[in-house]
Amino acid sequence: MPTIRAPASRQTATLQVAVKCRPLTDNERRRSRHIIQVIDDKNVAVLDPDISKGYLDLIQNRTKEKRYSFDHVYAPGCSNTDVYKNISPTVLGVVQGLNVTVFAYGSTGSGKTYTMVGSRNDPGLMVLSFRTIFDQIKKDDSSDTFEVSCSYLEVYNEVIYDLLEKSSGHLELREDPEHGIIVAGLRRIKVHSADKILELLNIGNSRRKTESTEANATSSRSHAVLEITVRRKQKGKYGSQVLRGKLALVDLAGSERATETNNFGQKLRDGANINRSLLALANCINALGKQNKKGLAYVPYRNSKLTRILKDGLSGNSRTVMIATISPADDQYHHTTNTLKYADRAKEIKTHVHKNIGTIDNHVEDYQRMIENLQVCLTGKRVNFYSFT
Ligand code: ADP
Ligand code: MG
Repeated sequence: MPTIRAPASRQTATLQVAVKCRPLTDNERRRSRHIIQVIDDKNVAVLDPDISKGYLDLIQNRTKEKRYSFDHVYAPGCSNTDVYKNISPTVLGVVQGLNVTVFAYGSTGSGKTYTMVGSRNDPGLMVLSFRTIFDQIKKDDSSDTFEVSCSYLEVYNEVIYDLLEKSSGHLELREDPEHGIIVAGLRRIKVHSADKILELLNIGNSRRKTESTEANATSSRSHAVLEITVRRKQKGKYGSQVLRGKLALVDLAGSERATETNNFGQKLRDGANINRSLLALANCINALGKQNKKGLAYVPYRNSKLTRILKDGLSGNSRTVMIATISPADDQYHHTTNTLKYADRAKEIKTHVHKNIGTIDNHVEDYQRMIENLQVCLTGKRVNFYSFT
């Protein structure tokens, strides 16, 4: 049934930015030093990776140590559940008709997929989100009815594929005046339980393009977006109102340096495309950060598919959470400070949030019932017009 967008009040929201540091891997423990110092739950320091300093550096007290502050900082011992506890109120906005975007940002091997997808013992933000959404729906004691559906896509080499289709063709992005950017032909499956989404997520993940690189045994070569839509139908006196919330959970492919990953041929080309999308994302974050400080700036969303898909999450109607993932190893110092630089700029980004409210077109009988009700009001009771002022 067609829905009509009703006017809704807008609220400005600031991007919620958190940093998560993973533990050293067994390989790294043998050759690397731990240079991340989590000062408290909001502050982090990246220590100087050079132990042996030149004479001039020493006497002039020069150091490469850097400090940053964020909404939350998670030390290597923290689990995905610890991260989720702080974002769960935001994520649950989807049940109230709000759009929410959660994405992990960081270099290859820094822990993005671990944070978003997770493992059996430490389920990721995708799994924790849809479990709590279904719990919330179960707990709801209003007479509202809910309909949950999900889609899962990947952007690989600047081409969009449907991860819920066995052999998906290339999908196109379209701009819809009412719904914003949409992926034409993307499969959206109705789901009735968290287990069903988990099953779809596992099927989708098995179709995702991954490769082993020197930096990571199963490096994601594509950006993946899991979207969960919750339609909430509220029965009112004069017809039905529909709230439509959308949760986008994004696992980005990592930025990488060709020299570190030892890639060549197709893998090297993939890397170039991954970096192109991430560079476009970094440029958008930069421009949006500047926009809020210095006024209007051009935001190059159209430079990649990824940024067009994330457009709403970065500046439109969405409450957005960015989890910057970092490695504690000293040889990752440049990647780490680069990630934190963009995360720091992202703190300036503002989005404009409003509930997606629509009304279901009323049938003729509904109008007849409404007219009858009004007639009863007029003839049965004397309406006191002054009470409306
Ligand atoms: P990315 O997706 O950023 O390329 P991954 O999530 O694949 O990186 O993580 C790289 C490696 O680090 C994997 O072997 C993963 O199991 C491990 N890892 C990441 N985060 C954690 C964590 N919090 N605890 C334990 N191991 C982790
Ligand atoms: Mg990954």
